[in-house]
Amino acid sequence: MSWASARTFRHGVHPGDFKELTRNLPVERVAFPDVLTLPLSQHLGAPSVPVVSPGDCVRRGQLIADSGGYVSSRLHAPCSGTVRSVGPAHHASGKLVDAITIDRDRASAQKLQAMRPGDWRTQSREEIVAQVAAGGFVGLGGAAFPTHVKLTPPEGKHARFFIVNAAECEPYLNSDYRILLERTDAVIEGIKVLLKALGSEKAFVGTEDNKADAATLLRERLPPDLPVEVLVFETKYPQGAEKMLIDAVLHREVPAGRLPIDAHVVVNNVGTVAGIGNMYLRGEPLIERVVTVTGPGIRDPRNLLVPVGTSLQHVIDHCGGIHPETRQILFGGPMMGQAQRFLDVPVMKGTSGILFLTDQEVVERQEYACIKCLRCVDACPVYLNPSRLGALAKSRLYEDMLDHHIMNCMECASCSFVCPSNIPLVQRFRVAKGLLKEQAARERAREVAT
Ligand code: SF4
Ligand code: SF4
Repeated sequence: MSWASARTFRHGVHPGDFKELTRNLPVERVAFPDVLTLPLSQHLGAPSVPVVSPGDCVRRGQLIADSGGYVSSRLHAPCSGTVRSVGPAHHASGKLVDAITIDRDRASAQKLQAMRPGDWRTQSREEIVAQVAAGGFVGLGGAAFPTHVKLTPPEGKHARFFIVNAAECEPYLNSDYRILLERTDAVIEGIKVLLKALGSEKAFVGTEDNKADAATLLRERLPPDLPVEVLVFETKYPQGAEKMLIDAVLHREVPAGRLPIDAHVVVNNVGTVAGIGNMYLRGEPLIERVVTVTGPGIRDPRNLLVPVGTSLQHVIDHCGGIHPETRQILFGGPMMGQAQRFLDVPVMKGTSGILFLTDQEVVERQEYACIKCLRCVDACPVYLNPSRLGALAKSRLYEDMLDHHIMNCMECASCSFVCPSNIPLVQRFRVAKGLLKEQAARERAREVAT
């Protein structure tokens, strides 16, 4: 299949991509900050459990927190230093969460205490998955779901296909693109490792046509005997959502409430794949990541290699500061990013980008009544009726929203983007889903108590 003819998913939207700000900037390493803050909750699942105490000396790459359960992740020291504290710190979610704070050892050369993952070629599938868990890998596209869990399909299920998600459909972001271009060896190693770990017969790399040059490079570098196909799709949002990518690559629909493995597929972000390749090539656990720092509000946009735990302020300083008109800072892209209120909030494993928007982009628009144009219905990639859901949310009829499948909403903001009445649909859906989840948790707790 040629990239020009690759079919993509139905619906979706075409926001401007604004990737030119950092598209051609090679990844550069940010200087180690003096202090790093590592939240114990920077992945989906149970918080990590510290294995260090205040006053302990740690080496770069050393384990500092173990998994807090099966769906959890390990944490490693991103720099050598001394543990200052284990206690509450600001988190990108806006909450205070427990975190390990490390004072960097300024005299240290920051030599990596490397893992010894062994040779994946001679390891069993279980042994590879155990190494991925040991390295603390999570989905680097933003969701931060522990990777070892994805690599362990439930009994009776098998990932016939493995998809590398290199769509990076959020405007402004270029971290996946730069990884494809600059860490091609690690991407290819990671594909080999994960094909074996999953026992899959074939891998696909899915990207968009604004990254066609990276796809060409990858095709040229792939060994001819590796069963991998690189597919380039039309640039369209949200191409990088797992279910959309599976639809585009395999023309398979993952039904609502089901997982990719139910369609015999596992999807991993290209940064995660490169990280796992890097662990086997160089013994590095997940202690740093590529972050696109961009937007009209930052003086010197860049693609940076940032130690996990580095503060937002340190990144801003490295990029020459912010313009006075900066109005909003987001972790992630403009469609699904999280607004930040504190400059001491740390970069985490799932932080793919930091976006600085100014008064010009953050315009408060007046909301008008719904005119039933149904543009939101045409845009919704999971076939919901955002117009109807929006009306129910406005009337706070949250339980009625369940009948209209609100829990299938992936909060992609496509509906808000196209709405000519400026109705804050996705914001209302986030509130509604949060309240419905809290209510469900309360009911579960009551059931357990009785
Ligand atoms: S935010 Fe939800 S309702 Fe709106 S387009 Fe995305 S999935 Fe559909
Ligand atoms: S796009 Fe906006 S105005 Fe049009 S139907 Fe949807 S909610 Fe109503």
